[in-house]
Amino acid sequence: MPEHPCSHDRSERVPFGKRDVPADAKSQLVNRVFDSVAKRYDLMNDLMSGGMHRLWKRRMLDELAIRPPARLLDVAGGTGDIALRVLKRFAAYQIEVTLCDLNRRMLDIGRRRAWDQGYLKGINWLCADGEALPLPDCYFDSCTLAFGLRNMTHIDRAVEEIFRVIKPGGQFLCLEFTPDIAPPLRGIYDAYSLRVIPKIGDWVTGDSEAYHYLVNSIRRFPRAAQIAALLEQKGFAGVRVDKLSAGVASLHSAWRV
Ligand code: SAM
Repeated sequence: MPEHPCSHDRSERVPFGKRDVPADAKSQLVNRVFDSVAKRYDLMNDLMSGGMHRLWKRRMLDELAIRPPARLLDVAGGTGDIALRVLKRFAAYQIEVTLCDLNRRMLDIGRRRAWDQGYLKGINWLCADGEALPLPDCYFDSCTLAFGLRNMTHIDRAVEEIFRVIKPGGQFLCLEFTPDIAPPLRGIYDAYSLRVIPKIGDWVTGDSEAYHYLVNSIRRFPRAAQIAALLEQKGFAGVRVDKLSAGVASLHSAWRV
């Protein structure tokens, strides 16, 4: 059978936490992590970041240049945190939000959460892989991706797909943990992330392994400057990086030309 033009080498191995795993196994392993933590995912975000993820997400939305009527895609949108923030912040605007995530449990929790908050409509919930979006070319005015790129098997494919579905002139915002911590804080950050976060994960979700994965996936993720270079290489222009909280997280902003 002819090979799919996008298919990668079958012997390829990719990072999964501390380990390297076969590329075709990673998304299943990532799915298991989110199956396991989905119920307590939002609580864990608050506990392990001390609420900081809210400030980083607010910063991301501050950068979002919406011109209504607009179509926004939130890739790896999980339990809807970004999608709901967008709908609340731009309540007066006509915005169609599509949230795409690989994990059904995260989507189910997000859908229930949206209903609880009165959002019966307004979000299209799509269970799909960010590396192969079942969406048309040049369709969205904006795309957001928060803490999802690190979980992809091939981050270059995800960036290509996002570029493909954004309209020329559209914006891409990517928020992610990056291993760019300023040196004076590195010791404290390492101690906290390697020792404390998996313990909190164990108490709250009963799955310390999931949080070992999280911490190690950050340590092995490219630095913010490398992500910026990848965005440029894939065709984005006006790429800007904001390091947040001394480099614990980075916000990339880019435009499709
Ligand atoms: N964006 C949300 C937020 O900021 O709270 C959720 C982020 S959560 C850390 C990462 C999400 O990425 C999970 O919901 C997971 O299912 C999703 N994910 C992982 N690999 C994916 C892929 N290949 N395509 C789409 N979603 C993926």
